[in-house]
Amino acid sequence: MPKVVVIGGGLAGIAAALAIADEAESNEVILLEARSRLGGRVSSAKDPKSGIELDNCQHACFRVYERFFQMIARAGGHHNIKLQSRTNLPFMQVGSGRTAILRDGRLAPPNHMGASLLNFPFLSLKDKIAMRKVVKVLATMSEAEMAEIDTQDFRSWLVKKGQTERSIERFWGFFVLAALNTNIDEASASLSAFLFQRGLFNDPHAFDVGVFTSHLSDSIHPDLIDVLHEAGVDVRLSTTAKALVWEDGCSGVESSDGNLTCDAVVVALPHHLAARLLMSDEAPEEVRNVAELASQLEYRSLIGIHALHPKPVLPDDFKFSICVDEEVIQMLFNKNSELDAENLPIENGQWISVPVSAADKFLDWKDEDFLAEYTRVVKGTFPETWNKPQTFKVIKTRKATFAATAGSAEFRVGQNVLSQHHLHLAGSWTDTGWPSTMEGAVRSGLLAAAGLMDFEWDPETDWKRWPRPPQRLDDDWNTW
Ligand SMILES: Cc1cc2nc3c(=O)[nH]c(=O)nc-3n(C[C@H](O)[C@H](O)[C@H](O)COP(=O)(O)OP(=O)(O)OC[C@H]3O[C@@H](n4cnc5c(N)ncnc54)[C@H](O)[C@@H]3O)c2cc1C
Repeated sequence: MPKVVVIGGGLAGIAAALAIADEAESNEVILLEARSRLGGRVSSAKDPKSGIELDNCQHACFRVYERFFQMIARAGGHHNIKLQSRTNLPFMQVGSGRTAILRDGRLAPPNHMGASLLNFPFLSLKDKIAMRKVVKVLATMSEAEMAEIDTQDFRSWLVKKGQTERSIERFWGFFVLAALNTNIDEASASLSAFLFQRGLFNDPHAFDVGVFTSHLSDSIHPDLIDVLHEAGVDVRLSTTAKALVWEDGCSGVESSDGNLTCDAVVVALPHHLAARLLMSDEAPEEVRNVAELASQLEYRSLIGIHALHPKPVLPDDFKFSICVDEEVIQMLFNKNSELDAENLPIENGQWISVPVSAADKFLDWKDEDFLAEYTRVVKGTFPETWNKPQTFKVIKTRKATFAATAGSAEFRVGQNVLSQHHLHLAGSWTDTGWPSTMEGAVRSGLLAAAGLMDFEWDPETDWKRWPRPPQRLDDDWNTW
């Protein structure tokens, strides 16, 4: 009976363990997770002062996250997510009071947002005319053409394509920052091109925004641990993998729960931890070379801000908005519109959350500095309803995502490059072609599982044993 140990109970490890257990009933699968709950970076924790469960940061998903949705559906977790039934991306500007919405219209892709873009007040006609040409280039770029520009930063690439400074700051730059967690000045042109092609220009449904209806850990842990148990996975929480055992390939894991022997291992850890585990004197040279590559990837930080107001500040129909020209308060999300009523800790008030992407330069800021910025933006936009937050929390995650910088593709290795050593890799940092996202994590786990079970799978197609991803107006999924 082949025995597999999966190390790491984030989305990548969960996907790998579940897919292997589902596919080959004779497999014995053990999933080791160092923490007491599954979910990894998709996590929330109780704030000791207020007693309120707070997400590490706002997590958004998009309809294009097809493998992620398949895994959520496999666990029966449909109720945990709400998805827009039509792409709708609101923008607002403090001071001027101007607002706008980018939405999909009647035109065929890549011009489906064309009508709303034409009326978009934050760009001039000159900006928009210049954008048309690049939209076409990005929509038709082949995978090979994208790979070729990985060593270029996206700003320089856009400048070469005649893009104006304003469109770089207010349009291209915002999407790169939010989706790649990397500033446009240093972001890989390849991953940026991928983002625009897959997310915005090729499929009018792709960018429908989704949010969680409960706290992150509650959205992931309970449903997924149940389905893993049902599938026969031996989930060992609060169990840390300390070292890999090498004997004719990777033949076991030393863990805080004792030594485990196995036929294959999937290491589904963030890159610095994967590198640490792989880098040992006993490991074959090829394995150490992979560890060396992974250790060269950098991280970028994310900061999550939670403000709980005693009375509503944002209008009832406000779901979220992008804040034009704002470096810190880049977006506002109205948690009241997301969370199921039983998950809202304030009866008559409002919970606003703010994700701060590529937040490295704000890591030293004090809570008062964030509160001052938050007050300037929110009070400045909604002066009549403004009231001071009764709870204001800032959560900083230093190692949030790998830095999707120019040239980073070189350090992202394939999930199955070490399969001859009975070792497979997963994690959003591995080579999925996606940035560090929930979708990238699930894809990586499935790719590792397919490699381990020695079958071909194209990640652009559904994982056959799992329910299909949501289509617009699908009754099984809630709309937002
Ligand atoms: C603050 C923040 C906001 C984000 N926002 C978004 C978003 O809006 N949309 C989006 O798509 N993505 C977002 N991401 C990225 C996304 O969460 C990650 O890309 C994804 O969850 C990574 O999953 P993973 O399984 O690869 O790694 P992880 O989630 O890091 O999982 C690794 C697991 O391994 C465990 N572990 C570590 N060491 C050991 C060991 N020695 N033994 C056993 N277990 C171990 C860890 O506890 C963890 O559970 C965000 C990330 C952060 C941090």
